[in-house]
Amino acid sequence: MPKLTLETPTDQVFLIGPAYSRRLKKLNIFTIEDLLHHYPNRHQDLTQSTIKGKIVSCKNLYTRTGKQIQKAIIASNGKTLTVTWFNQPFLTKVLTPNTQISLSNGLTSPEYEIIRDSHAPLIHTGRLVPVYPETAGVSSKWLRSRINFLLDNLKLQLKTDWLPPSIKTKYRLIDLSPALQSIHFPKNQAQINLAIRRLSFDEMFLLQLEVLIRRQTWQEKKLSHRLVVDQEKVLNFISHLPFTLTAAQNRCLKDILTDLNQNLPMNRLLQGDVGSGKTVVAAVAMYINFLNGLSSALMAPTEILAQQHFNTLKTVFANTAIKLQLVTASTSAKGRSSSGRKPDIFIGTHALLFRRLDFTNLSLIVIDEQHRFGVKQRSQLVKLGSQKTTPHLLTMTATPIPRTIALTAYADLDLSVLDEMPQGRLPVKTWVVPAEKRLDAYHWLQTQIKTHASQAFIVCPLIDPSEAETMSDIKAVTQEFNQLKSVFSDLKLDLLHGRLKADEKNLKINAFKANQTQILVATPVIEVGIDMPNATIMVIEAAERFGLAQLHQLRGRVGRSDKLSYCLLFTTHPQATLKRLKYLETINAGLKLAEIDLRLRGPGDLYGLKQHGFFNLKLASFTDTRLVTSTKAAAKAILNHLTRDLKRRLKQRTITSVSPN
Ligand code: ADP
Ligand code: MG
Repeated sequence: MPKLTLETPTDQVFLIGPAYSRRLKKLNIFTIEDLLHHYPNRHQDLTQSTIKGKIVSCKNLYTRTGKQIQKAIIASNGKTLTVTWFNQPFLTKVLTPNTQISLSNGLTSPEYEIIRDSHAPLIHTGRLVPVYPETAGVSSKWLRSRINFLLDNLKLQLKTDWLPPSIKTKYRLIDLSPALQSIHFPKNQAQINLAIRRLSFDEMFLLQLEVLIRRQTWQEKKLSHRLVVDQEKVLNFISHLPFTLTAAQNRCLKDILTDLNQNLPMNRLLQGDVGSGKTVVAAVAMYINFLNGLSSALMAPTEILAQQHFNTLKTVFANTAIKLQLVTASTSAKGRSSSGRKPDIFIGTHALLFRRLDFTNLSLIVIDEQHRFGVKQRSQLVKLGSQKTTPHLLTMTATPIPRTIALTAYADLDLSVLDEMPQGRLPVKTWVVPAEKRLDAYHWLQTQIKTHASQAFIVCPLIDPSEAETMSDIKAVTQEFNQLKSVFSDLKLDLLHGRLKADEKNLKINAFKANQTQILVATPVIEVGIDMPNATIMVIEAAERFGLAQLHQLRGRVGRSDKLSYCLLFTTHPQATLKRLKYLETINAGLKLAEIDLRLRGPGDLYGLKQHGFFNLKLASFTDTRLVTSTKAAAKAILNHLTRDLKRRLKQRTITSVSPN
């Protein structure tokens, strides 16, 4: 057997092998180290009522109804006991006569453990027994035995603790090796508590360190173009917009202009609810960039959105000399300007990354709905500019992030928040609709559409919300669509999902915009930025599957005009979920809803952050403010004195941060 190290991939451990390794990947376990850091959810207390004995016999019997039961006779302390299990016929092969055994939890279907070495501690019975997050084909029992083996086998290596002694002393943390031993196989609750303290510190500390390093790297980068801000021209441009900027827009703009006027690259996040008017703020920044003779790029996560931005900016910049170019999968690669002049603003999807565009003058990058992009794509974009300077970076998101989290998650970014809606927007009237009211709701919908010429979205959730759209999602939404067609037989319905070709999507969207269709059935793809001012009704199916903040973003698709808009949340779920959804009836601020999400569902489900693995926290929690503060202080103190072990640990982490670069 090759020598095992923490980095050894699990498939090279002889007790695991390739088949199990494949299953372990579903639990995000790739190496031995990952496996050792697969912590139990809880411990089952089997310290009481444990019997040790020797198998006399074990037989398979059939009940009258044809079910199988296993009866074993066991000799224990001079007594004979009968033990029964159900439907585990393989037991007769395992519990052969003379096998030493330990049983916990009574004589009917007890937990059992075969004792091969009477000196080795028990792991499945007679103690605090770890119960793990499992996956198909990987049981807690299996995990226990492998982890136990590895803990024994790697004792020496685990002695190298990557956390510097000074930090351990200061925060009164135990060493890594005993922490791992006791998180899996504790002797008592006190040991569990100490282990959790140490290991949750580790999680949060590494996260903080990662963010700080990222910030430092960003600031060490080359210089950026220091932009001259021509106040007069900017004010003139703003005064020609069809509306007055809100106070929040002006404030955020001021933050941005201050950054652009530095020769350090801006790295700012503009956060604001759907409809708060982020685009125009970005447009002003791009205008300033243009006045400086430099070019900008605006990257959006979908083609629909890129197209929409292109149209919006065409209007916004109509009275300027700015030249725009749309760059998406469906625009031709050769789409070089006929006039020969280089575009001033490139607007596109990630196609921007793959076309050979002339980015020599690129000095401002705007990324819309930034959480939709991977860290890699964002850093690729930043590297597109000239080699001499780093472009200024403005990222935009409608994802509301509670403050405690933003302070860590976005510690490497400067944050501007649009916390005010343009005037005249009415809150979207929202109702939770239980199953028995569905027909009434359909009836109401029909009447609304007919009497007010309004239009509606009906959104069906993805089957697995953590994944992108799959074929079964398309099937489900198509089925729903067909059903709805018969419900609303005298209205025009259309279906929109992510697997459609771009021009098909555009046709459908344009038909809806022109009110040729009245109901657009869609997967949550439409959540990303479609602007349909005439749509006033948003219906969300199986609303319980979404977080509150995400529902809020979906309903932000309506209420974009001065007409009263409605959001109907369909749910068939019991009281607890109803109560959660009811918050949407009264609260109309994304940030507040995100905070409720955090409280009710924990940060793991916070919308928009999940896919970044940022919250792959197993033990630590962002609700633990003390932990957040102390780990941040510890990370700051050590930032410039990283040891080799610490660097290795950072490198091992598969977790990626939310922020770009
Ligand atoms: P988001 O922040 O969701 O990206 P948009 O930038 O798409 O929002 O703006 C939503 C709508 O509000 C657009 O039609 C835009 O023209 C309009 N808008 C933006 N700012 C204002 C304002 N200050 N007053 C009125 N309407 C505005
Ligand atoms: Mg937007």
